[in-house]
Amino acid sequence: MIPEMQIRGIQVNYYFVCKTKLWLFSRNISMEHESDLVKLGSLLHREFFGREERDVNFGPIAVDVVRKGDEVEIVEVKKSGAMEKADYYQVLYYLYYLSKFGIKARGRISYPKQRKNLEVRLGNEEIRKIEEILKDIAVIVSGEIPKPEYKRYCRKCSYFDFCFCG
Ligand code: SF4
Repeated sequence: MIPEMQIRGIQVNYYFVCKTKLWLFSRNISMEHESDLVKLGSLLHREFFGREERDVNFGPIAVDVVRKGDEVEIVEVKKSGAMEKADYYQVLYYLYYLSKFGIKARGRISYPKQRKNLEVRLGNEEIRKIEEILKDIAVIVSGEIPKPEYKRYCRKCSYFDFCFCG
């Protein structure tokens, strides 16, 4: 079982996207390659956050952008708003993780293409929820592979062949 504080933000994201994907990724079964989407992500970074500190690594989390003012702000840039819930919990996990080290932060999810920003705040209710999710992730990852269930975005997933063309 993986200790909760070694869980990566992307695993929290995949928990909401697909439990099979979460399991495969967590077992280091990777089929990811630098796709056009990844390149687009870097491009968005440069375009919108060129002068800010970015890609900060802190333990198992890699924070896209950190701003310092009266408070730390974590900004996660996303290409599309299709997985808003997954994005929300990913950023919430970053805030939770940092809070464990006494770092108070607020989060923002930026969808530059849609010119939209979502604010993320960590309160007691959010802490309770994220702790439940982390426990569940640890259980899923240490168990059998969850059966793939076809979803509308499966064809864009790097594990598609593995799941449906075997
Ligand atoms: S192809 Fe679909 S079922 Fe398989 S890992 Fe990807 S999202 Fe999950």
